[in-house]
Formats: sequence, structure tokens, C-alpha cells
Amino acid sequence: MADGPGITAAAHDAGALVLWDLSHSVGSVVVELDAWGADLASGCSYKYLCGGPGAPAFGYVASRHLERLDQPIQGWMGTADVFAMGPRYEAGPGIRRFLTGTPPVLGMLAMEPVLDMIGEVSIEAIRAKSVLLTEFVIEFADAHLAPLGVTLASPRDSSRRGGHVTLNHPRMKQVTAELWEQDVIPDYRDPGGLRIGLSPLTTSFAEVITGMTRVASSLTTPRVEYTGNDLLYRSRRDAGNHS
Ligand SMILES: *Cc1c(COP(=O)(O)O)cnc(C)c1O
Repeated sequence: MADGPGITAAAHDAGALVLWDLSHSVGSVVVELDAWGADLASGCSYKYLCGGPGAPAFGYVASRHLERLDQPIQGWMGTADVFAMGPRYEAGPGIRRFLTGTPPVLGMLAMEPVLDMIGEVSIEAIRAKSVLLTEFVIEFADAHLAPLGVTLASPRDSSRRGGHVTLNHPRMKQVTAELWEQDVIPDYRDPGGLRIGLSPLTTSFAEVITGMTRVASSLTTPRVEYTGNDLLYRSRRDAGNHS
């Protein structure tokens, strides 16, 4: 978890602007761009906002920058009069100028239910469940995976942790592949990191037990690797005996 207000203030003290990448924050942690004094932000909506394929990206520009910032990727949706089709690009008012072409309407419509849901339950409640989910993963890992050599790469202090937990073990790449075959879909990050993203709105504690149990069984299943050399040797030997 980054210190939003602290980093923003430090950058401003040094005369810089801050653009926050919210791809892993939106829908999982409390973000207060206006209160932090942030300048710019962007992110995707297919992670904790559950947007799925074709989900739109989003951008934020502090209102104090709106009139001074140029949009280098110009398109008709960002113009002052969309149907003017004039000879020159004339930026639309306010945030509108940061649009470009026609937005992906189906992907945007699919966002409406989840955005409504977040509004209903509040991001604070979602963050509270997110903390419980990541704590649950860590408790499970301490109890059942640490004896197998798994270590925790994420911060133990939940106030410093976001919506996912990374567990390290030299065999995690193979474990991730095995889990995907069983419809448990975590991420893998080198070196040896199993990254478990816990979407708070859709992930139940029972699912966490299922997924973590599969990690444990994948790590305890004895792995066999046959090279075939033994058979080759035997067939050569047998061939020798018979010739
Ligand atoms: C997922 C993600 C993005 C989104 O990238 P797209 O090109 O929109 O898919 C951006 N930044 C970070 C850190 C991410 O994890």
C-alpha cells in the first residue's frame, strides 16, 4: 500500500506532478485523489472492478489542471462539438477533452452493476472484507504452507497490504500451472511468487479454503519425472542378450 497523501506531498514539494496508477487499488482500497491533492490518475477496470474482457480504462485529472493540460491523442468524442467535423481540433470543456474515439459501449454498460454495488455497500466495507480475506490467506499459509517451505512476500501488517497476497516457493511456477488446470486462477511472478488476487465482492472465504488447499496439495504431491533412460538401458541390455 502506497502512502497516497505522503508521496503526493513529497512530489509537490520537489516541484513535480503525480500520476497515480490505480489498477490494483480501484475497487479494493480507499483512494481519495481529491483529498491527497493528486494531479492525475489512470487505471483499468478488469481487476477488482470485475469488468471482464473489453472493460474500459479510466482517467482522472484534478480540476485545477483541466484547462492547462493538452490531449495529444485527439478524437471526435473529445471535441467541443462532436458533430461539427470541423477542419481543426477544438477541445471540449472540462474532462470531456480527454476522451478520444467512440468508447467501448458494451464494456462500459457491463460496469454499471458493479459500480452500483460498490456505491451501495461502500468502499470502506469492501476494504474491510479485503483485509479479512488477505489475513485469512496468511493464516492458512502460516498453518499449512510454511511447513512446506512457503514464505510470505507481502507485508504482514494489513495497513501496508493491498488486495493481494504473494507467497514464495521455488516450485510456484509449476503450482500455478497445476492450479489453472483445476480452475483456480492465481498469477505467477518471478522469482517463485504465487500472487493471489482476492476480489472482495466476489470471493468467498470458502473459495479461499478451496484454493489454498489446492496449493498445499500441489506442493505435497510427489513429483515424478521419467527420462526413459532406464527403459532405454534395459531394452539395449535385452537386445544384447538376445542377439
Ligand atoms: C493491470 C495493470 C495496468 C493496466 O494495463 P492495461 O494495459 O490497461 O491492461 C496498469 N498498471 C498496472 C500496475 C497494472 O497492474
